[in-house]
Amino acid sequence: MLGSSVNILLIEDNLADARFLHEVLKQPKFKNFSLFHVKRLKEALNLLEKSSQVSVCFDVILLDLTLPDSQGLDSLQPLMECDANLPIVVLTNTNDNELAIEAVRQGAQDYLVKRQVNDDSLLRSLRYAIERKQTLESLHTLNQTLKEKVDKCTLELVKAQELNQFKSEFVSILSHDIRNPLNTILLTAGLLQNSDEQLSKEKKLTHFQMIRSAIKNMALLLDEASFIGKADTGRLRCQISPLDLQDFCSEIIKGIKISAKYRNIHITSILPEIDFEVFSDENLLRHILDNLLTNAVKYSPPGSTVHFELNFTEESIIFLIQDWGIGIPNQEQQQLFQPFYRASNIGMIPGTGLGLSIVAKCVDALQGEIEFNSQVDLGTKFIVKLPLVKV
Ligand code: ATP
Ligand code: MG
Repeated sequence: MLGSSVNILLIEDNLADARFLHEVLKQPKFKNFSLFHVKRLKEALNLLEKSSQVSVCFDVILLDLTLPDSQGLDSLQPLMECDANLPIVVLTNTNDNELAIEAVRQGAQDYLVKRQVNDDSLLRSLRYAIERKQTLESLHTLNQTLKEKVDKCTLELVKAQELNQFKSEFVSILSHDIRNPLNTILLTAGLLQNSDEQLSKEKKLTHFQMIRSAIKNMALLLDEASFIGKADTGRLRCQISPLDLQDFCSEIIKGIKISAKYRNIHITSILPEIDFEVFSDENLLRHILDNLLTNAVKYSPPGSTVHFELNFTEESIIFLIQDWGIGIPNQEQQQLFQPFYRASNIGMIPGTGLGLSIVAKCVDALQGEIEFNSQVDLGTKFIVKLPLVKV
């Protein structure tokens, strides 16, 4: 495990002791060892700090515990802080056994009693110190890697638990929301069956319409739920193709104008001339704009205006959808993109609470961003920013 050369930093103020170690290290078995000698702790710390600049990399420290500028174990901490990977062997006097053992307890790798040092004990101690430190380092790295793996697994487990809980909540809300239109169908069909004779033609027509609209609601709910399911299992793929964005937006606005007309809501729009071809996923984009515009119309009072705007920057396509409707209470704005969440001020306005979570998933699939600001009774502004891919 030892490298080809070993650089020892000796911190020793006693010149006779230092000379003795020099002599021992001259022996052939130490031919790969080099000794760098300093007399004070401060010099050693300076040298260690500059060691990369002076292109010396130390492999082990021999530390005398009685230095002029530091006494006993006080020298250990600053050295370990300076280079935590450098093994330290302390040099003690004959009567300092307890101090030596305490030094090892505090992080030194080994100790040598000065008067008993010989070539064998020095070689063994230096090798042992370096190898033990290297083993500790690998253990530390291994420990760290294991810890990271455990953390990752725990996180995945927590996510899986959350997903599981979300799925069961999702299923129970969905079944609840499907039961409403099912009840309508059941009751109305029963009424038609039992009171067929007494019902006028118009009344019957109204009941059939109610059944049809309940079925439509259920189908819509199932479509939305399956869309979210697709997105959650990563099957919502973004399929980019060339798109005439101006034409596409005009067509969407035309569609929304029809439903807005019923509620006497005026739609205004600004669509700039586009002299380049834009790439996007038409299907995802339709979900985003349809949902945001439908919401703007749905949550606005009759006679008000909904505004749509398309803009570009160097890197983005920006859509703005603004209304002057009921707004969203401040404290509820954070939950808005959660499936089935509906704000408390919607009154009798129908909806499932899935539209915005679909929008969020589509924006995500297109690697865009969505933000909004809203004030109760003043209105709401949604801004969707998508990366601009053009030829
Ligand atoms: P649907 O799934 O049919 O779209 P929904 O409109 O209730 O039902 P989302 O579109 O997800 O569901 O909207 C969630 C909630 O956010 C709404 O119920 C409403 O409280 C609030 N909201 C969304 N857009 C607006 C808006 N433009 N103005 C006021 N409130 C809004
Ligand atoms: Mg909606």
